[in-house]
Order: sequence, then structure tokens, then C-alpha cells
Amino acid sequence: MMKQAFLILCTGVFISTSPCLTGQEPGRDPLMEQFHAISSHDLLNWAATLSSPEFNGRMTGSPGFVKATTWVAENLEKWGIKPAGDEGTYFQWFDHGYNEVHNLGGLSLHIPIKGGDTIIKQYRFPDGYFPGMNSGSGEVTAEVVFVGYGVTAPELDYDDYAGVDVQGKIVMFCRDVPYKDSRNPEYSKWVKYCYHHYKLDNAVKHGAAGMIYIDGLHANPNISYHPGFVWCGIGDEVLNDLFAGQKHTYREIMGKIDQSFKPHSFPTGKMMTIRASTTWHEGKACNVLGMIPGTDPGLKDEWVVVGAHLDAVGNCGVLLPGALDNASGCVDIMGAARAMAAAGIPLKRSVLFAFFGGEETGLVGSGLVARKLKQEGKKVAAYINLDMVGNGTGFHLAGGSTWPEVFKHFEAANEKYLHRSMGSSEVRSHYGRPRSDAAHFEKAGIPTLSLYTTRPVKPVYYHLPGDDVHSLTPEIMEDAAKLLLLSLTGIANEE
Ligand SMILES: [Zn+2]
Repeated sequence: MMKQAFLILCTGVFISTSPCLTGQEPGRDPLMEQFHAISSHDLLNWAATLSSPEFNGRMTGSPGFVKATTWVAENLEKWGIKPAGDEGTYFQWFDHGYNEVHNLGGLSLHIPIKGGDTIIKQYRFPDGYFPGMNSGSGEVTAEVVFVGYGVTAPELDYDDYAGVDVQGKIVMFCRDVPYKDSRNPEYSKWVKYCYHHYKLDNAVKHGAAGMIYIDGLHANPNISYHPGFVWCGIGDEVLNDLFAGQKHTYREIMGKIDQSFKPHSFPTGKMMTIRASTTWHEGKACNVLGMIPGTDPGLKDEWVVVGAHLDAVGNCGVLLPGALDNASGCVDIMGAARAMAAAGIPLKRSVLFAFFGGEETGLVGSGLVARKLKQEGKKVAAYINLDMVGNGTGFHLAGGSTWPEVFKHFEAANEKYLHRSMGSSEVRSHYGRPRSDAAHFEKAGIPTLSLYTTRPVKPVYYHLPGDDVHSLTPEIMEDAAKLLLLSLTGIANEE
């Protein structure tokens, strides 16, 4: 009996901290030592580095982005995390061009006055217009033609371009599609028409010379590039000016289209000028991948994957620092990764730390990682996604209610050590365009949880110049890294 009891005791210690293996004296708990060593100060400093002008907004494929990948990889190496990219490196490469935006460009309205003269109204950045991140370079002056959603869907008997001539004109249209219920299977008929790429390509196909996109006033690089085709984003001020004197307001018209599924396109009779100064560069970008190998002969080929996108939306003539979106998620993972490596406790399963490129341009890097894991037949016990995890006082785990066996590790760590509010929700199927890196892992059938911070205490500057380190709350980032450290260790060591 005594012998058996001793064995059980020893196994227990071995699993939780294994002082025998790491050569530390009994009684010490390296995991908790590293837990307490995670500091908001470090995390905030790293976020400041990633958000600094040196990395120029980390647009996927740009020199600033590549610099950021090198910086992350150098840290992983310093902390003893092994490379898991191409050919023994930390980098997993893919083709990815990028657009260099030289300045803010401009948008103006030509207002005719008595006597044949014209007044030019210049709109201001960022409240009047936002430069097109993948805009071609040049200047176009033309009449603006309103084309609803900018969709041509013959099989749905819907064409915003029917009956209007847009040749050489500036087209104006809205994001999304008239069908709104993305949880209804019917939406799948419309989904291909809600991609920004499609809408821009369709405008070019119809011979438009430029476009103004009703897509909110923020940077959007998830769209096609056509040399010479210039565009920018607009908001209410431009809408009000262009719909002034028309029979209906913009919102009345969109309401009608949504109700009847009948387009309502027309030439506005108003002239505008769009200016953009950009250079397109072909090239390559990469994910950064690091790992801690598992030690259990039966489980080490199973993976626990944690990922965050390292890219942001670049520089539009003004730096878009991408601190909350998503330096925050990256440094949370870095904090957990450093602590996990330093604790040195054996993990049954292998843990993969992924820093994706190409999220903002269409979830490119995460798609590559998910595809490769599948191709190589790797079993993935769980995927944890972090995007915008750095402003607030609480946590939410999307997918936590669908995957309670994964969520329980987060709940246990929170209840025992962190005491934050923590919510969870189910993965709800929808037929819309995927909007997060998590989508690729979910689609592959992997238990997928997305960690978010809730109860924001600072304003959120989504894809705007204001998304700098001052918009972060470092205390929640420290707790996010601590939460990850314990949860990832728990999942990796689950029997
Ligand atoms: Zn993001």
C-alpha cells in the first residue's frame, strides 16, 4: 500500500511541476514562478515596439511587416522556443504583394455656381474620406453614379449596374448585399457578392474609372488592386452632399433595395475628384511559427495551437499602428510562450505558437497553417485565437460553450488565480464571409476558441491612426498571458 501511495504521489508531482526533471528543489513550482513573472510592463513595451513607426503599421508583405516577423522570431529564439516554419526556420512563406500608400491623396466635390464657375469642396481625412489602401495611383475627375451594392448577380435576377452607364465614371456603392440574414442558408447564394474584392473587380469590369466605397471611415486593405483604378472610402458627409437635392435620402434608398431586392441606381449629376499616390509591390510575406515539443510518446504528435495575426493595416500617409488590432494578441502569446519555455515543465502534447501574416488582407496566413496541419495529417487538440485582446476588464471565449473540455481549462485558471469576468458562447454557424483567423481552424473541425477582452475601458480605434499603445489596458494583457500559460499547459497535459 505504502509503495503504491508513494508512486501516486510522485506521479502527481511529476505531472504538475516535475521538479525532478528540471533539477529544481522539491517544493518549488516553476509554472507558478513563471506565472507571476509575466509582467504588464514587458507586454506593453513589446506592443509599443510592434506599433512603432519602425514597423510602419505591419502591412503584410511590406518591409515593416518583415521587420516585425524578424523581431518576433528573434525573441522566440532567445527564449528557447524551437522554430516550426519552413526548413528549420521560424518563417513560413507565401506569395503576397502589397500596396505602398505614399500620402493621404484626396477627395473633392465640384459645386457649380452661378456664372459657370465652380467651387471645390475638399474633404478632410479621416472624417470626410479615408484613402483606399489598395487603390491604384492617379487622379480621376468624373460624375458619380450611385450603384447600390455594386452587385451583378444574374442567377439572383439582381444587377445594380443594369440601365446605368458607368463607363469612365466614378461609381459609389455600399458594402455587403441586400440579403441581411447571414444565419439563413439562403445567404450562401449571396455570399460571393459581399467580398470587397468582388465589388471592386465588378466596378472595373463595368468600365468605371474610380469608386467611392461606403464602407465606414477606416483602412481596408482586404480588396483588389487594379493599377490606375483609384478609390477611397467615404462617410456621412459625402453621402449627404451627393444625395442633397435627390428625390430620396441614401438610407431611404438602401431600405427600399433591402425590402424589394430591386436595384435603385442612378447618376447623381455631381462631379468629384479622387486622388491617390501609391506603388504596388509584388513579393512574399510569412507567418512566424515557434513550438515547444511534447514529451509523451503517445501524445507528442498531437498539437495545441495558439495564434494571433501579426499584420495590421499599414500606413495611409499616416501611421496606422495596429496596437489593439493586433499587437495585443501577439504580445499576449509572446508572454505566455516565454513563461512556458522558462518554466520548462514537460508537456505531453506539442504546442505551436503562430503569428500570422495576411489576416487583414483576407485571412491568408492562417489559411496556410490550417491547410498544412491538415495535409500533414496532424491531430490538433485545440486551436486558440487571439484578436484584439488588450482593452477591458473581462474575458470572453467564443466557442467555449461548444467545446467545454477546452473551455474548462480557462475557467479553472480564471477562477483560481485571475478572478476576471469570463463569458463563453457557442460557435454559431453562419453563411457569411469568414471574418477571423479562427474560421479556417473551425472549418477543419478543430475545437476552436477565440479569446477576446470585454468591457472596454478605452475607446476602440478600429483600423484608425488612434489604435496606438495608449488605447491598451496593460493589466488585462498581463492576465491574458497568464490565462494562456495555464490553459495551454492544461490542454497540453490533459490525459
Ligand atoms: Zn484583427
